[in-house]
Amino acid sequence: MADELKKAEKEVRVLRRKLDRSEENRRLLEGISERNSNLFQNFNAEIESANEQLAEARAEADQANQAKSAFLASMSHEIRTPMNAILGFSEILSGTVRDPQQREYLDAIRTSGNSLLGLINDILDLSKVEAGKMELEFRPCDAASVCHDMSQIFVQKASEKGIELVIEVADDFPGAVVLDELRLRQILINLTGNAIKFTASGSVTLRAISDTEHDGVANLTFAIIDTGLGIPDDQVDHIFGAFEQTKGQSAAKFGGTGLGLAISKKLSQMMGGDIRVESTFGEGSSFLVELKDVGVTTSDDVAAQGDDQVPSVSFHAGKVLVVDDIVYNRMLIRTYLNEYDLEVIEASDGNEGLELAQQHKPDVILMDVAMPEVGGLEATNWLRDDENLKDTPIIVITAAAMKEEEEILRQISDSYLKKPVSKAQLVTELVRFLPHDEVEPDQAITAVGSDRHWSSDDLSEEQRTELPELQKLLADSVSTWQELAETLTINDIEIFASRMQGEGHRFGFMPLEIWGERLATQATLFDMGSLPGTLAEFEDLRQDLDSLIGV
Ligand code: ADP
Repeated sequence: MADELKKAEKEVRVLRRKLDRSEENRRLLEGISERNSNLFQNFNAEIESANEQLAEARAEADQANQAKSAFLASMSHEIRTPMNAILGFSEILSGTVRDPQQREYLDAIRTSGNSLLGLINDILDLSKVEAGKMELEFRPCDAASVCHDMSQIFVQKASEKGIELVIEVADDFPGAVVLDELRLRQILINLTGNAIKFTASGSVTLRAISDTEHDGVANLTFAIIDTGLGIPDDQVDHIFGAFEQTKGQSAAKFGGTGLGLAISKKLSQMMGGDIRVESTFGEGSSFLVELKDVGVTTSDDVAAQGDDQVPSVSFHAGKVLVVDDIVYNRMLIRTYLNEYDLEVIEASDGNEGLELAQQHKPDVILMDVAMPEVGGLEATNWLRDDENLKDTPIIVITAAAMKEEEEILRQISDSYLKKPVSKAQLVTELVRFLPHDEVEPDQAITAVGSDRHWSSDDLSEEQRTELPELQKLLADSVSTWQELAETLTINDIEIFASRMQGEGHRFGFMPLEIWGERLATQATLFDMGSLPGTLAEFEDLRQDLDSLIGV
């Protein structure tokens, strides 16, 4: 009995010890789980704060990147103006300097100036894209003919190197697609130029193919295939970065800046596609521009907008109110409409615009966006709130509106035009809103500048005294212009165009500035189809200036 009792006591002790231990374990476990839960909470809090920090850092980096792009864009713009003067004056000097040594110096200035301008333009392009300021113009275009243009542009370079240049456009490639033709041209020039530069022998092929169209869209591929140097595997991704070139590449032999691919890739992405490369080092490379879901349209659409034809119409008598703070913009519109039976009323800001609209009851209003005091958006809102004017059609004309503002303006206005507005674009829009009759093309008055009435009343005293100097400068440039129109020497046109752009800016004569910029872009991108027509406009500009000064 005593034994059993002892045994039972022992068991109880063992059990108590077990109980104590398990109690201890429970407490331990509780402690651990509490610690775990704390740890977990802390961990969560840490992740949350790390995420916040990450988001902040990303926002800061985005902001810094935007600031960098904006800085680069304005820097390049600022550098371009003096560059234009350097190039322009060395061009003038080259006509007078005879001494061979001095000519050599001058040529060096021109060549370096030119490549510096090229670099600045590239930086400007890239920073514009990165800052979201590059706007593409999607229009029906003949992409196959852009490909064929490459053969004209590069035939000489290719044959100098003894390389075969082949352009192959698939038979079923659509005749018309909706793209930004100028930017497609820029991409193809870049890639084809590179392919020729980095190929010593063999061939360069530009191949354009398309999959079958479905629901009005198709996927397009432009492949630029060369038998050149190729790119080492580990560098294939790097070369699309800004200022990146294949490591160890001879700067003396190949030059370049490493910006072309970065720009081309971004432009392709803006057109809903991308560029990738397949390359075998030592054997060659294929650069593939793949554009997805590109609108396919008819060749008629290309023809219809191709050469910017002014519709042959005669408007019924009516009134057009132009609201723009820049006097030349108003004058330009007045000149465009000079031949029609339309009274042009001008206001220099939104406030005056509303007053004149109430007074004259115009049939249509052309509204600029960025104006001091009362801007286009506010003025359009006022007009929409006015019982008597709320139905008057408003065509907004803008250079570069903020994205959000642009969206709102599209909604509250009747139509939207981007500066610089051509006569054809303006008249085409007016036809939508004003009563008119169709007339035979030869009945439409086509003479530009014959009986236009520039009013010099609007000129400031300063402009009145300075513009004759510009007039003389343009007169002195006529022989250069004639030579360029005959020879179509791209390099010289670029320099001439940049100079004119600079002079237009210096004298505040905007039509010349806009024209110079357009001509320079066309020359840079070898847009041979447009160059002769644009060059020919020089005489019109001179006449505009003459009428303005009252000669
Ligand atoms: P750039 O031609 O001014 O150097 P890009 O951005 O157009 O600038 O090209 C970047 C680099 O990519 C070139 O310097 C070269 O190293 C490489 N690259 C581009 N295209 C080719 C090509 N077709 N073959 C071999 N390397 C190429």
